[in-house]
Amino acid sequence: MTAERRPLIAGNWKMNGLRAAKSELRTVAAGLAGLSAETMICPPFTLIGAFAADVAGTQLMIGGQDCHPAESGAHTGDISAEMLRDAGAVAVILGHSERRIDHQEGDAIVKAKVKAAWRAGLLPVVCVGETLVERDAGEAAAVVTRQVRQSVPDGATAVNLVVAYEPIWAIGTGRTPTTDDVAEVHGAIRHILGERFGAEANGIRILYGGSVKPDNAAALLATADVDGALVGGASLKAADFLAIARAVG
Ligand code: PEP
Repeated sequence: MTAERRPLIAGNWKMNGLRAAKSELRTVAAGLAGLSAETMICPPFTLIGAFAADVAGTQLMIGGQDCHPAESGAHTGDISAEMLRDAGAVAVILGHSERRIDHQEGDAIVKAKVKAAWRAGLLPVVCVGETLVERDAGEAAAVVTRQVRQSVPDGATAVNLVVAYEPIWAIGTGRTPTTDDVAEVHGAIRHILGERFGAEANGIRILYGGSVKPDNAAALLATADVDGALVGGASLKAADFLAIARAVG
């Protein structure tokens, strides 16, 4: 982690959380004072407006989990980046493997969504990651390099892009890569960002995601080129999320 990249700990609540979960959110917001990391919770769409109002004036940011590429129109069930922004979100997770798998989202649609996020003034958190078959074939770095090349549009800068490396086989499984493996893939991501965006790449944050818990967070966050974490299951419990945020050195 370099001084120019402020760590970001982001929680992805996925399709979890009813209005009663506000108490968990408030506990997180109240526990952040004095922490060096930036922190964000990405709840389901239904909670964004209420959560954003609730954390106003605190260090906690609110983000979305997906958006449509278009600003508005006949897209039943979809949400635009502008709607997220209007509801109080400041960022949006894009290209999560559950979107790529459940909704057949490829790199081209992820790229269009990143442009939509920029259009609306949201910070996109672009997820990339390999399957277990690809890892076992020694292709992890090549797969994520290709995903970054094809999912991130021209024009990325240190302030308008976050990348999250999330090995698919580590999400929700309790399994994590070794810190050497994480460093290798994060290094590959930094390299392709450098090829495309020059010196800006040194300031682009690369998060690790996949079974980050309070007991493994410190080691993962201390790994070369790891600038924070994207946390799924453990972000649903305020105590666990805060413990992970506190693990930032
Ligand atoms: C995720 O889905 O973004 C994630 C990292 O999940 P978990 O922490 O539960 O593995």
